Amino acid sequence: TTTTTPVEPAEVPAGLPTRLRHFIDGRHVDSLDGATFEVCAPASNLPYATAAAGKAADVAAAVAAARRAFTTGPWPHLPARERAVVLNRIADEVERRDARLAELETFDTGLPITQALGQAQRAAENFRFFADLIVGQTDEAYQVPGRQLNYVHRRPVGVAGLITPWNTPFMLESWKLAPALAAGCTVVLKPAEFTPLSASLWADILTEAGLPQGVFNLVGGIGEEAGAALVEHPEVPLISFTGETTTGRTIFAAAARHLKGLSMELGGKSPVIVFADADLDDAIDAALFGVFSLNGERCTAGSRILVERGVYEEFVERFAARAERIVVGSPADPATEVGALVHPEHYERVLAYVEVGRTEARLVAGGGRPAHLPTGNYLAPTVFCDVPADARIFREEIFGPVVALTPFDDEEHAVELANAVDYGLAGYVWTNDIRRAHRVAHRVESGMVWINSHNVRDLRTPFGGIKASGLGHEGGHRSIDFYTTQQAVHVAM
Ligand code: NAD
Repeated sequence: TTTTTPVEPAEVPAGLPTRLRHFIDGRHVDSLDGATFEVCAPASNLPYATAAAGKAADVAAAVAAARRAFTTGPWPHLPARERAVVLNRIADEVERRDARLAELETFDTGLPITQALGQAQRAAENFRFFADLIVGQTDEAYQVPGRQLNYVHRRPVGVAGLITPWNTPFMLESWKLAPALAAGCTVVLKPAEFTPLSASLWADILTEAGLPQGVFNLVGGIGEEAGAALVEHPEVPLISFTGETTTGRTIFAAAARHLKGLSMELGGKSPVIVFADADLDDAIDAALFGVFSLNGERCTAGSRILVERGVYEEFVERFAARAERIVVGSPADPATEVGALVHPEHYERVLAYVEVGRTEARLVAGGGRPAHLPTGNYLAPTVFCDVPADARIFREEIFGPVVALTPFDDEEHAVELANAVDYGLAGYVWTNDIRRAHRVAHRVESGMVWINSHNVRDLRTPFGGIKASGLGHEGGHRSIDFYTTQQAVHVAM
């Protein structure tokens, strides 16, 4: 039989791994009960690998290894500078493989290849950044003259449980691994089941960089099994989680029994507020990038665009015309700007939102599968306008190339619309009135806000959401604070 698929044989990476295993105590292993699950490529939806499906027993083995490495191994006790040397070597190893990482990530996630390459490079940058930060780490010390010296003794928390999502998986794994390792923790990583491919490279990268045995462990599998077992394990004192808000709530409840430390990076429905005095060319460029790059599968996507009524019609027309010109195609093609959505289940969910949107608002671009891509999870960049604030496509995270445009009358109305949803991750404000820019930015209920700028961030700044978008902040020294405890030592003089 012949299968018609947009994935040409040339696009299947050479040497593609077809069996993905756990990595526990320095060894690649299968699940203790031999269970596996199938992994599909989003451009074809054909299975290409089987992955080990971890259960509580596999998680227990990984935690035991990480615990041993923590209590008897050198890693937590190394001088920061020595850990930094290893972290910098990890960055070198990631950089050395960046083309391969991008190739595998693209194949597994459907991200456009040029964007996957940028994410691999950011992963390396995360390790360099935390290498520098840990060497520069200072802690407080106070003297009460003649009576007492007080100082902070910082130590790594122990075995960190890291649970990550399928969007930009390798980069988001690095965002947790780098600070956890810099702080001296040992780790068990549970990557997302939709996209386990690039994560399978960590073991070699970290081993070649000289990370001691047992410090890094990976257990693949389904969230409700492997992920839940990690959350339930009594010897994992903290969980760093990135994923959906509903999953975050489940984990929060399970972790409560153990009073675990939690960092929760959850969903978003971030507003882009465009005032009539903004530079519209820049605002349109940034808004297009903000919602359609990474296939719209981006937590900080500006997925609601609020535009001041005076320029609304012009904005809608220009934005929709630009959206229609975005190149949708094979993720492996360097010309592609929007690739294939990660998984048929997710694709169906996004398409269902498009159908809901048709009943709630006016469709001005996209709205379905591009004609030239008959199979695979492809969706044309989709733009709805005149979207009311009570519409589901205004309030719910879609996590795909779908955007809602809504007019506003004045500053007060803009802020009201911006804050009218449960989420509070990011916000974007476009205006040339400097006072208004700050005023509105301060009133947007979000963990991060960008003024006249698209989503670029300095790694020293806080990252995280408020409301339903998360709990706690990472970024810079906040990440080190999360993965360490600070013991106050009081010395009589
Ligand atoms: P998800 O919540 O479905 O899964 C995330 C991870 O949690 C996966 O590894 C999954 O296996 C695991 N998991 C699922 N159920 C679990 C359970 N009961 N116990 C323990 N682990 C469990 O999220 P997703 O669909 O993979 O990712 C997309 C979501 O992530 C979007 O909502 C997006 O906004 C969010 N996200 C947030 C940020 C941020 O920094 N705020 C960044 C990226 C993605």
